[in-house]
Amino acid sequence: MIDTKKTLTSYSLDDAKALMQELGQPAFRAEQLFSWIHKGATVDEMTNLPKDLREKLKLIPFGGVEIITRLTSKKDGTVKYLYKLEDGNIIEGVLMQYSYGRTICISTQVGCNMGCAFCASTLEGCVRNLTPGEMLYEILSVERELQKEDKQDRAITNVVLMGSGEPLDNYDNTIAFLKLVSHPKGINISPRNISLSTCGIPSKIIRLIEEAPHVTLSISLHAPFNNMRSELMPINRVYPLNDVLEAAKLYAEKTGRRVIFEYALISGVNDTKECATQLSRITRGINCHVNLIPLNTVKERNLIGATRKKANEFLVMLKNLGVSATIRREMGSDIEGACGQLRRRVIKEGEFLD
Ligand code: SAH
Repeated sequence: MIDTKKTLTSYSLDDAKALMQELGQPAFRAEQLFSWIHKGATVDEMTNLPKDLREKLKLIPFGGVEIITRLTSKKDGTVKYLYKLEDGNIIEGVLMQYSYGRTICISTQVGCNMGCAFCASTLEGCVRNLTPGEMLYEILSVERELQKEDKQDRAITNVVLMGSGEPLDNYDNTIAFLKLVSHPKGINISPRNISLSTCGIPSKIIRLIEEAPHVTLSISLHAPFNNMRSELMPINRVYPLNDVLEAAKLYAEKTGRRVIFEYALISGVNDTKECATQLSRITRGINCHVNLIPLNTVKERNLIGATRKKANEFLVMLKNLGVSATIRREMGSDIEGACGQLRRRVIKEGEFLD
């Protein structure tokens, strides 16, 4: 029986093989189907599949995403995409241009349940998880456009799971997505070029050691003291700082990969000398790097990003304390680049809603 719940874009190659067997089709059709899906094609475009097979494939829900808006930053060429899902929900992604290639930042959920005080994605909670295929199609729909424009074999080289949503709160779909996106017969993006950003769920971080050992793990730390972190990130009341740090240490030791700690500098909150000192203490002994991000001020929240000068001072303090750290380049600030900002405004203004 065809699984009518699983969408076609979420099919693994094995799923495609099982489907073809069930439909009495030769086995090679499975690879053809898988390869078309990973080119971002619609079923009608899968022209080397027989028409009657395509009609049968149309009975399976597709699970793609449609780009409905593109906003290009005049400052740095960063492009923000709004996508519409088949059920009408809207998500967002961001494409950034670097000297080494293009990085796409994708969402893993519609909204988010984590409740971080500085984040626009979480203001209305999590509407639903994204499927593996929807995450994949956030990439493929953009890749397809870019290939048409610059006729390169591969336009997108890196992926970061740093859009709306908490990937480890949608764990199974995220792992299935990672398998799809790095499959040699698909778009084949190396796990080493993929970063997964999490608010820090220790038991899931430990599962990643076995299930995603080659991705870059980024942990949103944002505060070096437990009480301060709980204020900014309510999830810290469930999974306190120490447990998150222990899981990070274990991940770094077992995988041999450096963990990234993200630290958004908030004026007058976490940018003090005491914070720098404590940050150096808690990260000591962990193979890690601290990524300082000037907070993108979110109107709905009364938290203001530290100035560039203050960020530089904080960086110097960390370096003097022996911490490996850099300030992340701010991209797309003129196009509401931060998590969930654009989606939220668009939904509020009701522009793209049915
Ligand atoms: N849920 C995951 C991934 C999504 S958020 C996580 O918590 O890591 C991606 C990153 O953007 C996180 O580090 C998050 O804390 C940060 N972020 C959210 N809102 C921000 C803002 N207004 N300014 C700067 N960074 C922000």
